[in-house]
Amino acid sequence: MTPTPPDSRSPRTPHDTPALVVGAGPVGLAAALALRALEVPVTVLEARSRDAQRPGSRALYVHRSSLRLLEQASPGLSRDIAGYGVTWHTRRTLYRGREVYARSYPPASGDGLPPFTSLRQVETERFLRKAAELAGAHIAWDAEVRDVETSPDGVRVTAADGREWSAQYVVAADGARSAVRRAVGIDLGGSRAEGFHLVVDIADGPEPRPAERVLHYAHPRAGGRHVLTVPFAGGFQIDLQCKEDDPVDKLTDPDLLKRWLPKVVDPEAIGELLWISQYRFLQVLADRFADETGRVLLAGEAAHLFPPFGARGMNSGITDADAAAQAIALALMAGRTPRARAAVAAYARDRRAAAVDNSAAVGAALAHLRPIGWLARTRLTAAGRLAPWVPRLGEWLERAPYGPRTTSRRKPGPGY
Ligand SMILES: Cc1cc2nc3c(=O)[nH]c(=O)nc-3n(C[C@H](O)[C@H](O)[C@H](O)COP(=O)(O)OP(=O)(O)OC[C@H]3O[C@@H](n4cnc5c(N)ncnc54)[C@H](O)[C@@H]3O)c2cc1C
Repeated sequence: MTPTPPDSRSPRTPHDTPALVVGAGPVGLAAALALRALEVPVTVLEARSRDAQRPGSRALYVHRSSLRLLEQASPGLSRDIAGYGVTWHTRRTLYRGREVYARSYPPASGDGLPPFTSLRQVETERFLRKAAELAGAHIAWDAEVRDVETSPDGVRVTAADGREWSAQYVVAADGARSAVRRAVGIDLGGSRAEGFHLVVDIADGPEPRPAERVLHYAHPRAGGRHVLTVPFAGGFQIDLQCKEDDPVDKLTDPDLLKRWLPKVVDPEAIGELLWISQYRFLQVLADRFADETGRVLLAGEAAHLFPPFGARGMNSGITDADAAAQAIALALMAGRTPRARAAVAAYARDRRAAAVDNSAAVGAALAHLRPIGWLARTRLTAAGRLAPWVPRLGEWLERAPYGPRTTSRRKPGPGY
């Protein structure tokens, strides 16, 4: 008889594992790490195969608040991530070819962690996965969750291939199309912004560009479109804000890209094109961040989707992950007492409140970058033209695309 691999064994009794995490993206892996730091046994169910590569850079910035949480869960991890990523100390903003803001910042001191680090999301995930496995989290690959049955006693999860797992608590970190969220009947609500952005990841060429972030409003060599250039470890990302009637397919054509990129970046800085993508902005939130039984906790993009201004997507997901792990540890200790439900309810309330704040902040950033109505458009144009003489307008043009800094009213802290 062929021995059955551990992943394909169906549990014989419920509660085979105290905690399951669905999804091995950055949020699921961060949740697994945080659970292990609290000594909670955890299995992560991931639809992809062990060796499947995820494309693209997606989240580049890992903020200090996230680095701190990851460092607490796994000492040394954030130092490794920051050691790999890049932290730039210069930010520049231009309007129609003219510099309106430039500032260089001294390297941060304090706890030794930088204010942020920039690396492709696939690399962040590589660090998180290694740390989670070392910490004892078991990852079951090729485990696409299809069904979720909840009861006041626990959760039973079934994968597409029929494998089953039971747990007392589940963290749903299975991303924007979350099967877990749908299975437990939680709806998403929100809006989709008009227009789209083109994102291109480019490896460093023979003469890497300086490690500085450049935001160029109404770039004259990009047909008046806004162009954001952001470094990451080994390359840089160009984010082009397209016009509403731009032909998406044409713009993502690599041959065309090779022709227009040298107009906005020094040709010597351009190496291999690593990833070309276009995306539209979604600004949506789950109605609730936990199911009715208090056994399933939503985290990351399973719970909220924000446009990337201020890098709130992955960073707020890492805060969700840490908070979910704490709520589950408290609930496990509380057993069948009302304190268990209260711990999960507090998670759902606090993290949804933070998501509402984040959503409002990205809404403000979006209104700045894609102004609707003549007054908002005039404000942006006037600021761009007057900024060389009025420095505070240059500062406004620099800061507004990130949205206001948020700190949840219910939980003081660094935001997200
Ligand atoms: C172009 C772009 C730029 C971005 N830039 C930033 C940025 O600068 N900063 C930032 O913070 N965020 C940014 N984001 C957002 C960031 O990428 C997301 O917030 C982040 O990926 C969310 O992580 P997650 O773990 O919640 O979900 P995901 O990364 O989507 O991971 C979900 C995981 O669940 C797995 N899965 C899905 N369904 C199932 C299932 N049924 N069963 C089992 N497994 C399943 C998937 O395979 C995947 O591994 C950006 C996104 C985009 C698209």
